[in-house]
Amino acid sequence: METKDSKKVWPEEVRGPIWAVASGKGGTGKTTVAVNLAWVVGEKVQLVDCDVEEPDAHLFLAGDASALREVTTQVPWIDQSKCDFCGLCAQFCQFNALAVVSRVSLVFPELCHGCRGCSMLCPHQAISMVSHRVGQMEIREIGPRLTLLTGTLDVGSPQAGPVISAVKELRDPRILTILDAPPGTSCSVESTLRGVNRVVLVTEPTPFGLHDLKLIVELVRLLRLSFGVVINRMVPGQDLVRRYCEEEDIPVWLEIPEDRRYAEAGARGRILVDEFPELRAAFVRLVDQLKEADG
Ligand code: SF4
Ligand code: SF4
Repeated sequence: METKDSKKVWPEEVRGPIWAVASGKGGTGKTTVAVNLAWVVGEKVQLVDCDVEEPDAHLFLAGDASALREVTTQVPWIDQSKCDFCGLCAQFCQFNALAVVSRVSLVFPELCHGCRGCSMLCPHQAISMVSHRVGQMEIREIGPRLTLLTGTLDVGSPQAGPVISAVKELRDPRILTILDAPPGTSCSVESTLRGVNRVVLVTEPTPFGLHDLKLIVELVRLLRLSFGVVINRMVPGQDLVRRYCEEEDIPVWLEIPEDRRYAEAGARGRILVDEFPELRAAFVRLVDQLKEADG
């Protein structure tokens, strides 16, 4: 999927829209919505799994990973033969990624944010920046119209942001993109949502669902993004999320009823719109609303 073209800055008129599917908490059915949306969209589409700590969109979509790439960041490496252990670099680093102890200078790469400041201020040019692996990316061609791009953070690596940015950059900007965001409202969600045109917020009609929906609504409003809500596992009479959306003038784009058959099919990794015609029709309507909002 990545070509030298994908690095070009394309003019506005040839850039495809970017939709994100997000959720204030885990377990709402966010990935199910993202996968089914991509499945029915009716044009060439890239689904980007940005939930890099636990990517799972590939569990619903057959297809072998055709390309694996490492994601690296730049971290300092100290040439001990040049270092006089003055400690300037450790004093400078805001993230405590450097320490000088008993005439040994130490680097903690997992804490480094790659600002390069230490390498610039070292009076003896003892610090060089070197690559440090934090995760990997995979590309899966699912069919003629759907490509899945997956970012995976390495176990023990604390920084999801670089992996999310790298997997987003892998997409072809001319093609419609759907991002499956990490759950919650952390920095990694903000990294995912940066630059998107439309956000689908998935929630469930429970007090917990409403609480976490309010948090992510606050975030997308701060980022000035256009958004609407999908209420999953809707039960007649459980109106608290619907009422909140009415009060806040938030469009409810889709309600998916609570149905044991949907849960069982999802647990078997099935694509719901292929098994249930009523859901296919509902997701097609969701696509229409997103396209209408894109103008
Ligand atoms: S600033 Fe340079 S010389 Fe001083 S402790 Fe750090 S690496 Fe060593
Ligand atoms: S590159 Fe920046 S963040 Fe990393 S160790 Fe040096 S000063 Fe700290």
